[in-house]
Amino acid sequence: MCSNLGAELKSGEKMASGMIFDIKRYSINDGPGIRVTVFFKGCPLGCAWCHNPESVAPGVERMYNRGKCIGCGECVLTCPEQALIMTAEGIAADMKRCAGCGRCAEVCPCLAIEMSGRRVSVDEILRTVEKERIFIDQSGGGVTFSGGEPLHQPRFLTTLLKEAGSRGLHRAVDTTGYAKTRTLVEVAEHTDLFLYDVKMMDTERHKQWTGVGNELILDNLKTLAEIGARINIRLPLIKHVNDDGENIRQTAAFIASLPGGARTINILAYHNIMAGKYDRLGRSFDQGSMAEPATDEIAGIAAVFSGCGINPVIGG
Ligand code: SF4
Ligand code: SF4
Repeated sequence: MCSNLGAELKSGEKMASGMIFDIKRYSINDGPGIRVTVFFKGCPLGCAWCHNPESVAPGVERMYNRGKCIGCGECVLTCPEQALIMTAEGIAADMKRCAGCGRCAEVCPCLAIEMSGRRVSVDEILRTVEKERIFIDQSGGGVTFSGGEPLHQPRFLTTLLKEAGSRGLHRAVDTTGYAKTRTLVEVAEHTDLFLYDVKMMDTERHKQWTGVGNELILDNLKTLAEIGARINIRLPLIKHVNDDGENIRQTAAFIASLPGGARTINILAYHNIMAGKYDRLGRSFDQGSMAEPATDEIAGIAAVFSGCGINPVIGG
């Protein structure tokens, strides 16, 4: 099947390409069954708790792990932009000079440098998915497009969804909902399940923590519900950010008011194990007041949703 895949795509679709930062096989938290999850690069939000900070910028980024570096200096000598300097603390980079060419990562003997982000074709992604087909079919799984924000590469996403659909694959889109309504509705025609983030109900607080207000996100969620899209709502739960009773009650009331019957909400507890990624990107991570919610607090919040006729699922 794989060897004929390229021929099955129309030429224009075969050429469609986009920027991703990862493809995860055997994913079990991004929709039903065993899935392949494709992580798009680029996101219009800047959530303070982002677990994938390498997903936010749309272009290629360099990540440096000083714990692996042996100080050989090969990367400094190779960089055509003179962006790298050897210091007592390891390699320092002037990211304004970095062109993202990846040569430093190629010559590093210790894999201390990796490049996050690469341009891939629809054809390449579908070939990767097809390799996992036996697990996908046996488990009732499929393919999930996540990010970053997949809706910000709409042509690439839509082509992938159409092609996956033509192969009988279940298709999920994991989204912030922050996109043009017209784009979202077009994507919905080729999507079997949305994984849709609702973070908090007060738009000023939403803006403070994510960089954007929530009006468009909530309006788009209503629109999807009205057109009958299948939606699992996801709540990233962060202590001292959105775990207060008022926000939880308002969130539950809003979800319960959506047309289309009973809903599931996945409660995703915050953790900070991604802090090292910020360091490798050369950014600081400000934990501030953010904290992990306790198990009994999560259970209490789940009970609020249950009381509003919403099915709470703790975790992905
Ligand atoms: S990615 Fe290219 S330009 Fe950037 S630091 Fe590495 S070698 Fe230099
Ligand atoms: S090439 Fe790799 S190991 Fe050598 S100095 Fe650069 S980052 Fe360190």
